[in-house]
Amino acid sequence: MDIEAIYKEAGAILTGHFLLSSGAHSGYYLQSAKALENPKTAEKLAIALAAQIRAANIEASAVCAPAIGGILAGYELARALGIRSIFAERAEGKMTLRRGFEIAKGEKVIVCEDIITPGGSALECARAIAAQGGEVVAFAALANRGFCRRVGGTAGDSSCKLPQDKPLFALADFSFPIYPPDQCPLCAKYGKPVKPGSRPSA
Ligand code: ZN
Repeated sequence: MDIEAIYKEAGAILTGHFLLSSGAHSGYYLQSAKALENPKTAEKLAIALAAQIRAANIEASAVCAPAIGGILAGYELARALGIRSIFAERAEGKMTLRRGFEIAKGEKVIVCEDIITPGGSALECARAIAAQGGEVVAFAALANRGFCRRVGGTAGDSSCKLPQDKPLFALADFSFPIYPPDQCPLCAKYGKPVKPGSRPSA
C-alpha cells in the first residue's frame, strides 16, 4: 500500500512554510485528519495497521487514543482488530479517561494516534492507562513523523518520548526536514510561518 500516495490524494500533505508545535519550521505538514475524511480510506488504512499488529502476535482487548487527533484512527483500528475503542482527553491539563471509560486491572491496551511526532500525547495516554492498572502493550499510528522508530522503520532520534521497550506500529515514515527557527531557509523566502493545525478552514 502506498501510504504517501493515499495521503497526497487526500490532501493530507500540505506544502508551504509551517510552524510546528515543537517550535521548529518545516516546508511540509501532515494533516492526518484529511486522510481520514473518507471513511473508506480510514478503514483501509486501519486494516493494514491491524494486519501488522496481528503479524507481531500483539494481543490486546482495547485501543485507547489521545483526543482529539487519535480518536478516528483509534476507533478504526479497534474495529479492524475486533476490540473495544476508548479515548483519553485532557482535563485541566492532564490526560484522563472520562465518559465512563474504564480499564480492567491488567487489561492489555494499544495506544493509537493518527500520527506520532515525538509521541508526547501518546505517552500521556499510556500513563493514564497505567494509572488505571492497565498494561500498554504497543503504540500504533497511521503515520510516523520519523522521530520515533517504528517496527520495520528507520532509526528515530533523541526527541522520541515513547518508551523504547514497547513496539510502535505505523504504516509509513514521513521524515520531512525540519529547521530551528534561526536556521530556517524558508523564512528568508516566505517570511513568517503559518500554524496549520490551529488555522480554521478557509
Ligand atoms: Zn521558517
